[in-house]
Amino acid sequence: MKSTMVQDSHLHDISPSINLQQCAAEIKAALAERGTPQQAVEIVAVSKKQPAALIQKALDAGHRCFGENRVQEAQTKWPSLKSRAPDVVLHLIGPLQSNKAAAAVALFDVIETVDRPKIARILAEEIRRQARNPALLVQVNTGEEPQKAGIIPSDVEGFVHECRTQYGLTIEGLMCIPPVSEPPAPHFALLKKMADRLNLNKVSMGMSADYQIAAQLGATHVRVGTGIFGPRQA
Ligand SMILES: *Cc1c(COP(=O)(O)O)cnc(C)c1O
Repeated sequence: MKSTMVQDSHLHDISPSINLQQCAAEIKAALAERGTPQQAVEIVAVSKKQPAALIQKALDAGHRCFGENRVQEAQTKWPSLKSRAPDVVLHLIGPLQSNKAAAAVALFDVIETVDRPKIARILAEEIRRQARNPALLVQVNTGEEPQKAGIIPSDVEGFVHECRTQYGLTIEGLMCIPPVSEPPAPHFALLKKMADRLNLNKVSMGMSADYQIAAQLGATHVRVGTGIFGPRQA
């Protein structure tokens, strides 16, 4: 008998496996066009608001790098998925509240959204307490948008230094979310330039609409959600 679950049509229509292959092929083509075919770009499959069954399809296809933007949502989905794929690398790509820092350090392998001294201090405490070692990226507010999280460009060098000297944290890279109403390329170029100047080798930028451009401008990680899993659940 046919299930009447609402998600079913979505689950059958979408092939994360094919979409991941296509995304990888487009990155390859974009890099070839740019003359940097050897550049490594990892696809962070953004699985927020996607059902576990769809995420499982990407896991079955061998994909291991995923992104979630809410700690609580990730806590409900990932422990069981991870138990079947222990080598998963889970990125936190959404804002981190201090009362979720302990859970974030326990669950995530990469935290891309270090965006203020208070969160740096609490992450440092949790990393010591849990003897965990997540890679840390600083979120940069390249558009200097008042409502958006992230360190403004002129403060990034000082903040990365503060993370190291005050809190003993190693920052490995930078991430940004450009303003929705502007062409993303100048923001990607700025982020890459800052990362180079600070000798940081992880650069997380680009989403479904613009990951090819991000790759061409030096992304090491692109965060692709709907392009892999289709529309998100409400
Ligand atoms: C949701 C999200 C993405 C993925 O967006 P898509 O347009 O679905 O690819 C990437 N980065 C961040 C920070 C997000 O919150």
